[in-house]
Amino acid sequence: MSTPKDLSQIPADELKQFVDSFDDVFCDCDGVIFILMKVFDGVPDTISTLKSLGKSIRYVTNNSSMLRDDFAKKLQKQGIECEKDDIINPCRAIIDHLKAANFEKKVYMISLPSLRQEFEESGIKIANKYGAELCEVNATSFLQCIQEYDNDVGAVVVCFDFNMTYLNLNRALRYITNPDVKFLATGYDQRIIFSPNQFCMGPAFFHDLLQSASGRTPIWLGKPRDDFVEYIKNQPKCNPERTLFIGDSLEQDMGFAHKLGFTKLLVLTGNTTLEDLKNCDKEMLPDYYISSMAELGKLLKNNF
Ligand SMILES: [Mg+2]
Repeated sequence: MSTPKDLSQIPADELKQFVDSFDDVFCDCDGVIFILMKVFDGVPDTISTLKSLGKSIRYVTNNSSMLRDDFAKKLQKQGIECEKDDIINPCRAIIDHLKAANFEKKVYMISLPSLRQEFEESGIKIANKYGAELCEVNATSFLQCIQEYDNDVGAVVVCFDFNMTYLNLNRALRYITNPDVKFLATGYDQRIIFSPNQFCMGPAFFHDLLQSASGRTPIWLGKPRDDFVEYIKNQPKCNPERTLFIGDSLEQDMGFAHKLGFTKLLVLTGNTTLEDLKNCDKEMLPDYYISSMAELGKLLKNNF
């Protein structure tokens, strides 16, 4: 494996080879094209330039915090041409998984309302109401609450929710201990990053907790997990030899793209610094890096 190259410093003929080497771009979102849904300066231009060079762009994100339709509209409002179907996230992957399995039962969900709404809009029934489930503070009341069992539940989906409780987790656990109930998990993120100094626990902790409590491994339909690798491989027009992945995270993006056999470009507008490349696993090393998407756009405009 070679050392990552600074894309802005490679000779013109090598830059041309790089641009000619891919037709399709899969691009992460948080830390790459926006932070907290505010698109970074220069990104719309970069996306237009890539498209004008004949490249297709799809967005592969673990972010399921809003409906894909709203997600696309937010990007459109900020100058990025984007359709709902260009967005691939765990919510979509889980719905596709359930549809492919002709799933007709109900889902017990630990997630934000957006995920629930997208499930309902796609015709999947949800067993529990949104929000914190609470009981009285004594063992009898708690046991009564977790004894309630809906036989129509055929799957548990675990993401994260600002309002989840111990009772929510134990209800999920009760269903998961039934081997006939599917155990589905979203992106394996350890942190949800709001800004460089603001973060909270990501869904990975709840996946791990329920995995160890139940002894079952979930089907993980989010970056960087193998089930999601398979899902992406099966997307239309996915030719690893002709695909570039752009991301800001070593494990979630570069490691994930490595498993897919994509060319990897790291941008430094998210949570990775050049210093981090010194000690990271080889499979998480990018092929190229650049300071930002805006810089990529400038480089392309100046050379093509
Ligand atoms: Mg990111």
